[in-house]
Amino acid sequence: MKLFSIFGNPVAHSRSPLMHNSVFKNLNYKACYTRTHLEDGKKLKETFFSLGLSGANVTVPHKEDAYNACDEVRGFAKKVGVVNTLINENGKLIGYNTDADGFMYAIEVFGKTQNVLILGAGGTAKALASRFMQDGIKVTILNRSEGRLAYFKELGCEYSTWDGYKTSKYDLIVNTTSAGLKDEELPAPKKIIEDILANTSHVADVIYGKITPFLQLANENNITFKDGSDMLLGQGVLANELFTNGELELEDIQKYMQRSFEL
Ligand code: NDP
Repeated sequence: MKLFSIFGNPVAHSRSPLMHNSVFKNLNYKACYTRTHLEDGKKLKETFFSLGLSGANVTVPHKEDAYNACDEVRGFAKKVGVVNTLINENGKLIGYNTDADGFMYAIEVFGKTQNVLILGAGGTAKALASRFMQDGIKVTILNRSEGRLAYFKELGCEYSTWDGYKTSKYDLIVNTTSAGLKDEELPAPKKIIEDILANTSHVADVIYGKITPFLQLANENNITFKDGSDMLLGQGVLANELFTNGELELEDIQKYMQRSFEL
């Protein structure tokens, strides 16, 4: 029996155990997926191995620590320095990022996107900004504080803190901050949010399972919006494919993972 887990703080809200266990159970794959509350991201590696895990997912706020904990990082995660999926490969910790492709899958319904505003500058923002830039999409970052903006400057994004921000027109605004996850906060001061909502066609939040104050305001302004459920599904399917080392059909993984959303 293989054991998997998700690391986060908070982690009690995570739907990942339900999603992955639905796949394992329905496809008779001998594995179990749990959740692990982790306070100190620096203890990720020792906790992973002390639990005897075959693999794991990592959520807020440990994705950058996860990158640093890896013996080897592969694919897109290497480019962004952010890891959300860990695999135990013969006692070595291998890191991947499945968030960005999961998000691209989620926004397909919005049609062609050329100009995106990302709220937040954390691990998820890095992954999404790099993925957008890879597709030639113009990216602007708006963050509460300045500390994390250097990465986006380097990447070639427009960037600003709340002070001095000037609104522009966007095809899509994405909230990648954790505002609204445990509280009822907006991801930026209300005046800024109202201005940007007046200048966009679509809105997405990466938080799932609740209508955040940001999505609520978008709804009140009759803007098409979606929460983070489809992104969660997309990243989960790709992570499960890594966990099961290609032994399961992608279509089957998707089917049973999708079904867990109805539980
Ligand atoms: P990080 O901790 O790396 O970054 C958090 C960012 O949010 C920072 O830019 C921080 O700003 C900003 N922030 C935090 N609190 C507030 C606030 N109250 N107001 C404004 N800005 C704030 O987090 P991650 O990028 O790892 O995760 C962010 C969110 O994405 C989480 O809610 C997570 O659950 C969700 N997520 C969902 C996924 C899905 O599948 N649907 C996948 C991945 C993530 P500052 O720099 O100033 O501190």
